[in-house]
Amino acid sequence: MEDFIRELLIKEAIMARKNSYCPYSGYAVGACVQTADGRNFSGCNMENASYGLTICAERIAIGKAISEGAGRIVAIAIAGGKKDADVLDEAFPCGACRQVLREFGSDDMQIIVAKSETEYRIFTLGELYPESFGPDHLS
Ligand SMILES: [Zn+2]
Repeated sequence: MEDFIRELLIKEAIMARKNSYCPYSGYAVGACVQTADGRNFSGCNMENASYGLTICAERIAIGKAISEGAGRIVAIAIAGGKKDADVLDEAFPCGACRQVLREFGSDDMQIIVAKSETEYRIFTLGELYPESFGPDHLS
């Protein structure tokens, strides 16, 4: 994946972060997935007064992609930090999101953990979620 495509994913994740609904944690996250057919889908975290119903930005973005007929996910950019922070954290995907990413991608999926459009680290799903259980185990 070329740098400018990666930076576009990050930009969309940062834009999605602005819509974060996080009145309880104050931690705003945006994510943007790229699908194998070249489309991008972004999402933000969505908290709930019944805390367990909170949905992460990654799973919102994945759900949007799948509901629009996208097949496989090849990359995801994640941007997170305190709601009003000027400087973002490195917001890694939680365990639940790693499992959901596993459902729609392979070990070489790129996971871009971004503090800004130019400051980020790239991991593969296999690095962040090794020896995982997935659809291939049930086929
Ligand atoms: Zn998550």
